[in-house]
Amino acid sequence: MEQPSNGAPERAMIIIAHPDDGEYMAAGTLAKWAKAGTEVTYVLCTSGDKGTSDPEFKPMELAATREVEQQNAANVVGAKNVEFLRYEDGVLQNTLELRKDLVRQIRKHKPDVIFCQDPTRRYGEWFINHPDHRAAGDAALDAIFPSARDYHVYPDLIEEGLMPHNALEIYMGAGGDGASVWVDITDTIDTKIAALMEHKTQVGSDKEKLEKMKTRLKENAAQTGAAHAMGHAEGFKYIKVN
Ligand SMILES: [Zn+2]
Repeated sequence: MEQPSNGAPERAMIIIAHPDDGEYMAAGTLAKWAKAGTEVTYVLCTSGDKGTSDPEFKPMELAATREVEQQNAANVVGAKNVEFLRYEDGVLQNTLELRKDLVRQIRKHKPDVIFCQDPTRRYGEWFINHPDHRAAGDAALDAIFPSARDYHVYPDLIEEGLMPHNALEIYMGAGGDGASVWVDITDTIDTKIAALMEHKTQVGSDKEKLEKMKTRLKENAAQTGAAHAMGHAEGFKYIKVN
């Protein structure tokens, strides 16, 4: 398919289920665009309060810690806003309530481009996709079209001054396969890795493991870029709503 310009838009939003999902998916692209002047907004459906197998960690404390980590990661990326919707981790559903909360964010921040998770990504040879990822992806697409765009869906949001907004371009995380567009992140692969490292409760502190992880992230991005004459790349499933 024809590649979009990938030029930095005025405003971009990323809607994800958990802290760190956004960094894995798109931090290279977001950092690149932020550097070029794009106003980047993160919207977190959950704060990842179940993201540990340590029985001593209380979900509320973990959520607070992970929100700080997410804010730090967003700062590394150069994002301007981080919004936490604080749905419960692990049991996220594509409800009408979540859809409305996402519409509120879309109308508030008016992104030209929205990144989200791919709700059709169910499983692969070596993984089952987290159900929260699918729910967040479905809710994001349903919020973008048509609810954020249509005037009469939420009269109370209109009363709050949140006017309809039509986001025309969508980049969905492709997780290595099925991508239709690629963004060269050669200049920001190190920023992407640095942002991921801010999620300390998730990546741990074992130096050897961290080095291996960094190497793997670089190799994956190099592999994604190789077929498209890019040093390092992120790939996305792209939708342009007409
Ligand atoms: Zn996740």
